[in-house]
Amino acid sequence: MTTLGNDTGHGSDTFDRTGGKGVIVNGKIYEEHSFNSRVTLALSAHLKRCGIGEKRIQQPNKPEVSLTRRTDFYNAENVDAVISNHANANRNKSIKGICVFAWHNHPESQRLQKLLIEEYEKMGFDTHGNGDHESELGSWTDLHIVRETKMTACLIENGFMTNPDDFKKIFLDPGYAERCAEAQARALCRFFNKKYIEVVANPQQKEEEEMIKMAVVVYSDADISVGYDLANEKKCGLYNRKSLANEKLKINELMVVGGPTEGLEKKTNRVIDLSGANRWDTRKKVISYLGK
Ligand SMILES: [Zn+2]
Repeated sequence: MTTLGNDTGHGSDTFDRTGGKGVIVNGKIYEEHSFNSRVTLALSAHLKRCGIGEKRIQQPNKPEVSLTRRTDFYNAENVDAVISNHANANRNKSIKGICVFAWHNHPESQRLQKLLIEEYEKMGFDTHGNGDHESELGSWTDLHIVRETKMTACLIENGFMTNPDDFKKIFLDPGYAERCAEAQARALCRFFNKKYIEVVANPQQKEEEEMIKMAVVVYSDADISVGYDLANEKKCGLYNRKSLANEKLKINELMVVGGPTEGLEKKTNRVIDLSGANRWDTRKKVISYLGK
């Protein structure tokens, strides 16, 4: 069986306030490893469906396994390829987009690298530069996981945690990790000459979705108070993005208080976009909506 080393960047103990793996936004810690874990688990489901086996040594949401142990493991298991999932950071907050690293003189890794970039682009992701980064000895691109693996290996930086746009996708959009994993699965199927098996919505699961008339969804804690007022006025439920994503609900009219409407369409028949440029603007929009 064709087998992938499904590698989760870092471990659950790799964040520290002096420059660890993650970012602090509004006093809250967002760990890179938790995002990397979500991509790993989403990729795992795609691999299973598409008939590709997987090996893991760094388990999602578990303490760090050293890089040497990782590459020793993949080499001993003789997996067919390795993909390591990460999110990037840079002092320059304007830098954003996807980067895929492959060892500079390993043609098969570079073939996978190109396919990955193509599939990410097809799905509408932005790349940093052309997305293609060659890893070389003695430079900042000299990454252990692509250097020490004997087989095809790519390390993917799924955007920059330090860029405000990418940050929202990485940490606040529950569908983003899933879309990253889908792009990877599509590229791996092409790489291994396998047919990508589309995800089919389970019709029975659809029937289980409860239909409710109306609800409010907020984006962050900053919008909870105005969201609460609106939900109270309309006598309907109040959700945050994550709780809504986890509910088996279909909502006829969904009032969006803060944040993008992207990704919410599948939950509702009608999106009412009440998000402003900031929390005060959002409050104004809600008040004017209620006045109508
Ligand atoms: Zn990383």
